[in-house]
Amino acid sequence: MSLRFQGIGMTSRRTRERMIARLREQGITDKQVLTVMTEIPRHIFVDNALESRAYEDSALPIGHNQTISQPYIVAKMTELLLENGALDKVLEIGTGCGYQTAVLAKLVGQVYTVERIAPLIKKARDLLWELDLKTVGFRHADGGWGWPEQAPFDGILVTAAPEEIPGTLLEQLAVGGVMVIPIGREGMQVLHRITRTADSYVYEAIESVSFVPFKPGVSS
Ligand code: SAH
Repeated sequence: MSLRFQGIGMTSRRTRERMIARLREQGITDKQVLTVMTEIPRHIFVDNALESRAYEDSALPIGHNQTISQPYIVAKMTELLLENGALDKVLEIGTGCGYQTAVLAKLVGQVYTVERIAPLIKKARDLLWELDLKTVGFRHADGGWGWPEQAPFDGILVTAAPEEIPGTLLEQLAVGGVMVIPIGREGMQVLHRITRTADSYVYEAIESVSFVPFKPGVSS
């Protein structure tokens, strides 16, 4: 692995291990999730000027008015998604910098990720390639349409908050599949887990969260 990926000082593996200790204190227990987050160099997903803050428990700007989610949220969403067993095919809406995508890529069979802002998806694609995470399909599109050619999905993880869940995404969830999604207006969002059963959807409200809004259309 290149030195840039290994990191030094505030971007070193020791700093990552401190982040993991904090995640445990915050109630994250899934060992696989904690291991993967120890391995992935989060600092390469943010601008050089912010690298030393990459392991703080906060969201950070990634340009284009978007953010990298705080480590706790990435860990919590992944844990909720995987709680009922391993997943083969997962759709992610809102690639952003690609950090959450990288975490998923190490834990599930195949990831399909959709982002509406072109430069973000390009950068994420390059980074995941450098990290040798090659089981990921990328698409520049409005995630409200999901990825119909690859549906149904065992898992869907949405990292921007719509006021209401797009029906298309519910349709693209397999029976037995799980969706983790923040829902609600800015300042009033609640993270939900939705499980599709043979004839309905079961909703669980998890906790209050703060995500960037889910926006329609694409931006080049
Ligand atoms: N997953 C990221 C967080 C990304 S922030 C991480 O690991 O930190 C949320 C992302 O969702 C932004 O990049 C935003 O552009 C994107 N987004 C918002 N609405 C979208 C939509 N309708 N379709 C696809 N992406 C969307």
